[in-house]
Amino acid sequence: MQLGALLLERKLLKPNQLDAALREQEVTGARLGRILVRNGFLRQRVLMEVLHEVAPQALHEESVIVPSIPPRVLRESRSMITADVGPQIYVASMRPAPVVKAMLAPYLAGRDIVFTPCNPARLQDYLDSLVEESPGPRQGGGWERLIRAAMDKDASDIHIIPRHASYTVMLRIQGVLHLEHEGEIEEYTSLASRIKDQARMDMAERRKPQDGGFSVEHNGRIVYLRIVALPTTDGERIVVRLLDPDSMNLGLDDLGITGLSDWRKAVSRPHGLCLICGPTGSGKTTTLNATAREMDFNERAIYSVEDPVEYRIAYAGQVNINNSVGLDFSQGVKTFMRADPDVIIVGEVRDIETARNAIKAAETGHLVIATMHTGSILGAVGRLRDIGVDAHELVHLLRGVMVQRLVRKVCKACGRAGCALCRGTGYKGRTIVSECTYLPNEASVGRLLEGSRTWKTIVEDAVAQMERGVTDHKELHRVFGAEVDDAIDEARSSASTTNASREVLCTAS
Ligand SMILES: [Zn+2]
Repeated sequence: MQLGALLLERKLLKPNQLDAALREQEVTGARLGRILVRNGFLRQRVLMEVLHEVAPQALHEESVIVPSIPPRVLRESRSMITADVGPQIYVASMRPAPVVKAMLAPYLAGRDIVFTPCNPARLQDYLDSLVEESPGPRQGGGWERLIRAAMDKDASDIHIIPRHASYTVMLRIQGVLHLEHEGEIEEYTSLASRIKDQARMDMAERRKPQDGGFSVEHNGRIVYLRIVALPTTDGERIVVRLLDPDSMNLGLDDLGITGLSDWRKAVSRPHGLCLICGPTGSGKTTTLNATAREMDFNERAIYSVEDPVEYRIAYAGQVNINNSVGLDFSQGVKTFMRADPDVIIVGEVRDIETARNAIKAAETGHLVIATMHTGSILGAVGRLRDIGVDAHELVHLLRGVMVQRLVRKVCKACGRAGCALCRGTGYKGRTIVSECTYLPNEASVGRLLEGSRTWKTIVEDAVAQMERGVTDHKELHRVFGAEVDDAIDEARSSASTTNASREVLCTAS
């Protein structure tokens, strides 16, 4: 209760969120903090910080059995890791802080140590339970090591690629693949069956693609793993997506969206159609979820149909498409209409059937938020017209369009030089570059349909962020190609024209 009151006082939580979580706790008996994090009301990192302040003794109940620091070092320093989230690592130790700091420093990759109270009996149990990692690749420890490497490096995906006589593991870190490991094909075989088993896939099936998933808890973080097994000519390629609830719990303000106030206006409308556009991996789902989580779950019934559901939105009705039973995007929307909805989220609009049902839902007084695979606002409108949506329907219903991409941010600690914090890449974290328009009335949609542009384009936004030092030219070139240079040239020439005309004015006066 003390925790809840403090979170309310600091405005880290809304009263209705606490109320809902306490009711859930009454039934399930789970810890309040866990419920808040799982429901997406609170970030894990914030929970740890607040716990450390109000109930530090509660932290030594948490313990990290698969630590990112070698067990040998933990034993020598008589230390226990109680949590390992983001930039901080929480440690309870029997030895003096400066000694512990010095001993752990080589393994921290720039993270800070926060010391928590130590319970000697608990510490001893912890140290006894640590198992020294077996060095052999075929000890079954390969999968744990891989998961740990992926989580420590903030990877979003693991690709396990069988090849001729060996196999390769690649990690996608901030949007880019990196080679992580090369091993013998026998190692691949046991790794693949281990993963398929945990994901409850058909072990014997190697010809058809399969999907599955499970969640793991690592260093106090719960992460959901979505697994795809894809038969290729060299064997089954296994791709693991790591879905971290902490990245899901990001708010709209944390994403770097330039036209955010326009987007908020669009989705504040009680009915109509709003679009989030961009290619796969552009962070559309994160924006979609952050948008849904800002809505009051007490007041609005929210439904979503996705392929597949990636992140849970507390109290929303989320449905996976399932083609084998005929449940596609279009059918999903149709079903929601009978289930007393206020807001309907459509994972993807790619056919006229889905567009039709989405429009019908918007016309009958609901807010529909849908994603599309287009790279610009004008392109999104063109795409809807191409698949057969009438202009007059758009004029009545379209309220907002956002187009986005993700770009890597320059590491603040080293400014692109490469350091421990950014693991030598020069980039740390990602931000959204975007273009967004709010369409308050029919006239504004009419102008959009005529092709007139009133917003800053996504490339212009990207160049502006580069000029502020958020990202750099190399990264924008990776994401947009030569289009970036055209935008830079244009910006420079328009700036010099302005200067030139100013000179003319000066001369004239
Ligand atoms: Zn750095």
